[in-house]
Amino acid sequence: FLHSVSQIKNGFFNAPPPEGPEDEYKNVAIIGGGTAGYLTALLFKEKYPKMQVTLIESSKIPVIGVGEATTPEIRSFLFGVLKFSAHEFYEKVKPTWKLGIKFFWGLPGDYYFNYPFGWPDVKSSYVADGDINNSSLTATLMDQESSFVVAANDGRGLQQYSTLSDDLFYALHLDNVSFINYLKIKAQEKGIIHIDDLIVDAERKVDSDELAAVIGETGRRHVYDFYVDCTGFSSLLLGKTLKSEYVSYDKSLFCDTAIVGNIPGVKKIKTYTYAESMDHGWCWNIPMRGEDHRGYVFSSGYCSIGEATDEFLRKNPEIRNPGIVRFKTGRHREICIGNVFAIGNSFAFVEPLESTGIHMIITEAKRLVNNFSELKRSPALRKKINTDINDNWDYLRDFLAIHYKFNKKFDTPFWKDCRALTDVSGIQDMIDLYHEVGLLSCANKSLVRMINSSIKDVIFGLVGFDVMMMGQGEIPKNFDRSVRNQHIWKSNVETWKAIRSLTVPVDKDLDILNEYLESRW
Ligand code: FAD
Repeated sequence: FLHSVSQIKNGFFNAPPPEGPEDEYKNVAIIGGGTAGYLTALLFKEKYPKMQVTLIESSKIPVIGVGEATTPEIRSFLFGVLKFSAHEFYEKVKPTWKLGIKFFWGLPGDYYFNYPFGWPDVKSSYVADGDINNSSLTATLMDQESSFVVAANDGRGLQQYSTLSDDLFYALHLDNVSFINYLKIKAQEKGIIHIDDLIVDAERKVDSDELAAVIGETGRRHVYDFYVDCTGFSSLLLGKTLKSEYVSYDKSLFCDTAIVGNIPGVKKIKTYTYAESMDHGWCWNIPMRGEDHRGYVFSSGYCSIGEATDEFLRKNPEIRNPGIVRFKTGRHREICIGNVFAIGNSFAFVEPLESTGIHMIITEAKRLVNNFSELKRSPALRKKINTDINDNWDYLRDFLAIHYKFNKKFDTPFWKDCRALTDVSGIQDMIDLYHEVGLLSCANKSLVRMINSSIKDVIFGLVGFDVMMMGQGEIPKNFDRSVRNQHIWKSNVETWKAIRSLTVPVDKDLDILNEYLESRW
């Protein structure tokens, strides 16, 4: 009894008294139950199964809730690091497959280009066809909206199915709400403590950057060693309490609002995300099973919400339930202050033009959890993580900025300003090299090493840079058209097209793939 009274006096309402070395954090509370909160909690529990991990969220504040496109990293994280059963995941969350992004972007007219995952050979494709749309097997499949389930006759009149999934680099489209519901179940199974409370305040330790407690709306004190701020755009701990300065990206990225809506009753499920230029921004399409999730990201400096809604509905008359999301683009100066680390929208946000939100959550969560045992004793480590993550985000800003700077599709005031004013100074050296030396992914090894060591890219690679420049019709001034072994390239393309001709229609592939996965996992 005495022991528990002293615990209450000391405020140890939820966490047991810490045991173990004094210079390590012993327990952790994650504030926020969106994608960032649950993925971080699950990663903590995976890495430190004995640690007390608590997730506090408020059922009064909804999650973002839109369809989310991802990068291939999601699969290795869910099925490799977190060890989820792929079969169970497909059954419960019902994702769709994503081979890349189709950009209706760059040049006037019906023009589009494919940005497939993997390592497309844009040079050979461009030299052969004058575009980059068949730069890999993945791109070839995207080009004709083909699935990646292949059907062949077994010679006895029976159809046999196999999938190209082992040979392709692909990602998933997820419904945010189904995804989080699934993560909640996994968190419960793993013993993560769940508390529903609206956090309204935080107490700081005397003369320290550290937090002593967070306070719920009924006055309840939640006391832990370490706090992860996953409160989304409100950035309750990092931004509001610890006042980490906000570094805006608004000189490079002008959009600040999205109208989101669904198109029900869609039978054909596309195997890619698409991004289409609009008068004052761009529109995404994320295919879910039975419906498409669509959103118009625009700049309120160039049109009102009413004007943007009119354009969105005029171009997509089937949209149901349009809703508005306001956002700002940028990051905080520090991701980690004292015993607080922010993950997800509470630290940084850029529009989903390259589907990078969840990728960055995973990057941040890994950085925290993999370094957690040294974090308390090493300010230098905290500083290093801050610098590194900031550089990752700044490269992301610059990479997105080239999507605006070089897009020549429309001549509206928004796009004219994008071409004239978008700040690409962070990536100007790569743009100059591209024009003067040629495709960066084809540069000599020493130059590739030099560029890679100067940028903090965790997603795209130099080939991603080349795709975005070539795709938008920016051909290097010194474009070297010579292709070694052109006959091999031609036969590759023939093979890819032959494989494509065997694929089943996209509206059938999910059922077949589910059955196939069931037999494998
Ligand atoms: P949220 O989902 O907002 O979750 C915040 C959580 O914090 C909620 O559980 C809430 O209850 C809790 N909370 C907040 N305040 C308190 C409080 N005071 N007390 C207790 N709990 C609190 N990412 C992609 O990877 N792909 C995409 O295609 C994509 N599309 C997007 C489109 C739009 C329009 C927007 C805005 C974002 C998009 N994102 C996308 C990014 C996406 O938001 C994030 O990847 C992801 O959903 C992470 O959100 P979060 O967990 O940081 O925040």
